[in-house]
Amino acid sequence: MNSIDEKLRPILAEVHRRNAGEDEFLQAVHEVLESLGRVVAKHPHYLEKALIERICEPERQIIFRIPWVDDKGQVQINRGFRVQFNSALGPYKGGMRFHPSVNVGIIKFLGFEQTFKNALTGLPIGGGKGGSDFDPKGRSDGEIMRFCQSLMTELHRHLGEQTDVPAGDIGVSGREIGYMFGQYKRLNNRFEAGVLTGKALAFGGSRARTEATGYGNTYFVRAMLQTMGTDFDGKKVVVSGSGNVAIYTIEKVQAFGGKVIACSDSSGYVVDENGIDLDLLKEIKEVRRERIGEYVKRRGEGAHFIPTSKGEIWDVPCDVAMPSATQNELSGKGAATLIRNGVIAVGEGANMPSTPEAIKAFQEAGVKFAPGKAANAGGVATSALEMQQNASRDSWSFEQTEERLAKIMRDIHDTCATTADEYGAPGDYVLGANIAGFVRVAEAMDMQGVI
Ligand code: NDP
Repeated sequence: MNSIDEKLRPILAEVHRRNAGEDEFLQAVHEVLESLGRVVAKHPHYLEKALIERICEPERQIIFRIPWVDDKGQVQINRGFRVQFNSALGPYKGGMRFHPSVNVGIIKFLGFEQTFKNALTGLPIGGGKGGSDFDPKGRSDGEIMRFCQSLMTELHRHLGEQTDVPAGDIGVSGREIGYMFGQYKRLNNRFEAGVLTGKALAFGGSRARTEATGYGNTYFVRAMLQTMGTDFDGKKVVVSGSGNVAIYTIEKVQAFGGKVIACSDSSGYVVDENGIDLDLLKEIKEVRRERIGEYVKRRGEGAHFIPTSKGEIWDVPCDVAMPSATQNELSGKGAATLIRNGVIAVGEGANMPSTPEAIKAFQEAGVKFAPGKAANAGGVATSALEMQQNASRDSWSFEQTEERLAKIMRDIHDTCATTADEYGAPGDYVLGANIAGFVRVAEAMDMQGVI
């Protein structure tokens, strides 16, 4: 509580009381409120009109049963969630996560972060998030399809291209979006392309959406490195995860001349001093859906695998770290190791991958730190571009879409930097992102009355 302005402490206490036990949500709120002391000093009407309390309370939370039948004919039950957090700037927008750890607190933290992230893009999208405690690992294609169909049988009534537009997240990629879209279309008898993003190109997807989050984070980190008079060229980079965000981060870092020497999954991490072979990684992860250890077996000399029980990826010395797996994967200890080994910049591809202790350590050590709500906004920004293409029944080239993405990331970087300057904390991207995102949402809500 000490790091929170005293005027904001009663608000945080009330958020704790109403959301007890939702640790990730409370962590995310705490981080934003830490930045808002300077804002309420300048704009007291945010306090008078209870805008912070309102922003911390989701507009709507939907929790539902997802029954489905597995390949053995047995009935399985999962729990589905959709948190429609804030629609001040546009329809609710945010991904669906399928992972056994999913609970209401995790979806609320993601929806809360998403609200500010979407505001930072400057595009007309509100914030939402959803998912299920379903574990897709080891499930057949038929099981995945039946699960997605059952989920959408309930969720469809809450969605719509002007209402709520989900996309992918952990465990949800083009295949799952396709199955959910097909079921939505059957139930509504409408080809409503803009109701989901991350679709295949064949039915309204956008070029560069698959690449967007990883590419976007790389553009952001490059902009940050340029403020230090340097670039990715020749830098050693560590990227955690090996899913959608990680793979396309690796691709863009390599295109910018950086050398990615390690990546991971939940079983452990691989180190490849020759640089990660991206074709091999894509084959293992996108085509065969295998564990990361397979990479070493096929790559041979120069690469080795360390299981999760024997260490963490942050032990690998690097210049730039790009955590791209999941929340709280980079602790104070991991940060201390990275700092000791000379890291100069960290860009969060995942949502809230760094713990508060890690962020503090980076900032105190003068390491440039890009928070996820700014650095990984390229994915949702390109989803908004997909919605634009759907609305105009158009399809843009890869180059055109990537050019828009690159500009959006540059603008987000500059917005965070200038906001941090304006509020007396130059170089503090966390403060800049939190304040710029918050002010855009709060201003819109204020103009719409007590909503
Ligand atoms: P994927 O499912 O494609 O990949 C997730 C990766 O992270 C996998 O390598 C997975 O390993 C690893 N991982 C997941 N959970 C854990 C865990 N508990 N411990 C260790 N490793 C874990 O997801 P994405 O790449 O899409 O998402 C990664 C992160 O980026 C998430 O935080 C997500 O919210 C965020 N994000 C994603 C966006 C997108 O466009 N996809 C947009 C913005 C943010 P394993 O296979 O072993 O589980």
